[in-house]
Amino acid sequence: MKTYHGSCHCGEVRFEADIDLGQGTMRCNCSICIKARFWPAIVKPEAFRLLAGQGALTLYQFLTKTDEHFFCKHCGIRAFGTGVSPRWGKFYGVNVTCLDDVTEEELVAAPITYLDGRNDIWDKPPAETRHL
Ligand SMILES: [Zn+2]
Repeated sequence: MKTYHGSCHCGEVRFEADIDLGQGTMRCNCSICIKARFWPAIVKPEAFRLLAGQGALTLYQFLTKTDEHFFCKHCGIRAFGTGVSPRWGKFYGVNVTCLDDVTEEELVAAPITYLDGRNDIWDKPPAETRHL
């Protein structure tokens, strides 16, 4: 477990999060993840701390409107979002590409779990993952 510091592109939104990248990251083929190329690590709410940029965060929601898809209103970057799942309860999805002090080696070594969100199947990977 390490405390990483992250930000959006313009730097208005800044956060820190306690993440064990060895526990894995997610890639998903659902309608928003695939367009945003979102690559999150999943952490408990208490492991995430917003340090700056509350006023720059814009909330986007769709369908059931339970998940919160935040983006910076200045630069458009999606640094994190929140959701509720049967497996994790309330969680934060932290975009690992927004971590400023993660190393390339840590990202390369982080296991990836592929989710078939497009078909609402969350416990099995989709047939094709190479494009995710
Ligand atoms: Zn920004």
